[in-house]
Amino acid sequence: MNKTNYIEEAEQSLLHTYKRYEIILDKGEGVYLYDTEGKKYLDFAAGIAVFALGYNNKEYNEALKAQLDKLIHTSNYYYNVPAIDAAKKILSATGMERVFFTNSGTESIEGALKLAKKYAYDKSGFSDYEIISMNNSFHGRSLGALSVTGNSEYQKAFKPLIGGIKFADLNDLESVKSQITEKTCAIIIEPVQGEGGIYPATKEFLQGVKSLCEEKDIVLIFDEVQCGMGRTGSMFAYQNYGVMPDVLALAKALGCGVPVGAFLANKKMESAMIPGDHGTTYGGNPLVCTAVSKVLDLFESNNIVEHVNEIAPYLENQLDKLVDEYDFIIERRGKGLMQGIVFSVPVTNIILKAQENGLIIITAGKNVVRIVPPLIITKEHVDEMIVKFKAAIDATVISK
Ligand code: PLP
Repeated sequence: MNKTNYIEEAEQSLLHTYKRYEIILDKGEGVYLYDTEGKKYLDFAAGIAVFALGYNNKEYNEALKAQLDKLIHTSNYYYNVPAIDAAKKILSATGMERVFFTNSGTESIEGALKLAKKYAYDKSGFSDYEIISMNNSFHGRSLGALSVTGNSEYQKAFKPLIGGIKFADLNDLESVKSQITEKTCAIIIEPVQGEGGIYPATKEFLQGVKSLCEEKDIVLIFDEVQCGMGRTGSMFAYQNYGVMPDVLALAKALGCGVPVGAFLANKKMESAMIPGDHGTTYGGNPLVCTAVSKVLDLFESNNIVEHVNEIAPYLENQLDKLVDEYDFIIERRGKGLMQGIVFSVPVTNIILKAQENGLIIITAGKNVVRIVPPLIITKEHVDEMIVKFKAAIDATVISK
């Protein structure tokens, strides 16, 4: 079958929830992807901030292959060694006390919200608590996660969502304060907003929110599904800010390609959930936990965080040159290898042209190009990206 046939078949059989680009990806090597026709792409999207270690990492693959032959799944009626290892490593990396493994970022958010609600319920016996989230945030598509996602477009067809959710503005402490009531049980924040357009929180804001939470015994949840795992120049973004959450949600690069997420609880939260409060069939199975364990080992042995800090200033510098060069590029914002280039025009055609030029980049909102490459990129990859990105910009925006 050729590419057109495959795409026709896909469109006839898959639910139309995605507007896919007309590329069928086939294999990956390092920071490059290849489609079914053999075309090579430099990948600065990493499967949406997933493939931190790049494609076809031999050590990662070998670990998964060995586990595949041994035991893939057990259910949570039993213990398994990869989950115990992965738990130990993720707790040591985060400084949290307990972890629950999920199957996706959305499920990590669901679990985090439930944990916060349960903590509040245990205090008072009431369940009608409120949660404050941020405008412009993204936390996932299930009904709970969608309820705290600050984007009315995504929500409007699915109302009523869960009750008691209020929204405040990122980096505006007063707006958070104004939403707090005696019923507030949690505040959920992405330390660097991803899908909403790459907006980093300020230190003063996160520290201010943390103080409010401490003062009123409100649970602080950080969603690091996208910005965690080394991406912003520290293993977890909250470490950049010196602000520790009570609950941390992770996914994406935690498994570097296998579907796994996690929510983690600090000391205060560790005993809020008891048997029967939460569960999942697949969560924390030996296969995905082997991946988590190996990913955490490889981050350490390959000094991934140090590498991000070496390469990010170069990337920022090269992107800043683009901001200076083109009047329709308004600004660059972001942290580490999570960058947004903000245009005054829609960027869809630039993305398409970049694909033609062999570069994969994605959007974060209509006017923002999102740069979230594998964390192993080199200066040469940045240079190659800039050449292809510029050519795409010149061929689209300028030619208009
Ligand atoms: N939270 C954040 C910050 C995200 O960026 C995403 C996905 O992009 C999610 C939650 C949902 O994660 P998943 O798509 O794995 O369910």
